[in-house]
Amino acid sequence: MGDDETMKKEALQIIGLFQNLPRLVVFDLDYTLWPFYCEFYYEDDTPYLYPEATGILYALKEKGIDMAIASRSPTPNIAKTFLDKLGIQSMFVAQETFSSWTHKTDHFQRIHRKTGVPYSSMLFFDDEDRNIEAVSTMGVISILVGNGVNLAALRNGLLQFSQCSGSSSSS
Ligand SMILES: [Mg+2]
Repeated sequence: MGDDETMKKEALQIIGLFQNLPRLVVFDLDYTLWPFYCEFYYEDDTPYLYPEATGILYALKEKGIDMAIASRSPTPNIAKTFLDKLGIQSMFVAQETFSSWTHKTDHFQRIHRKTGVPYSSMLFFDDEDRNIEAVSTMGVISILVGNGVNLAALRNGLLQFSQCSGSSSSS
């Protein structure tokens, strides 16, 4: 708990460094927010996030930045139950969890339709480079995470976002 507060403060400091912020931050679930494939678990199991993830989510929320989920997990019920158990389900304005042959382009089309946020105002975190490649081509700044979402990935993502949005006149 104390760790989450510390991480949140650090995340708030990082967010505070940037003027051009995304309107929507989209997260993958497996190996991005939590360190496992939820399809191998039961709804009775107790989920947990990567150590810096909780603080990052609460910092984004405090800054008024919307968040969404884009997951290709074949077990959306387990994913939903886990988000609920973690007490974070209500933090996401859109939750797209379904398996697909495309690498999340259809997930992002749905998120765009639901939220109205343009792709150029989104920031995406995922651990699979094929998802990163596919979603990047839609115009979403997409960050590959090697060990789950953490403060370094957040800083890198916000930096890349601000550099790209700074060079164009996005609204
Ligand atoms: Mg993943």
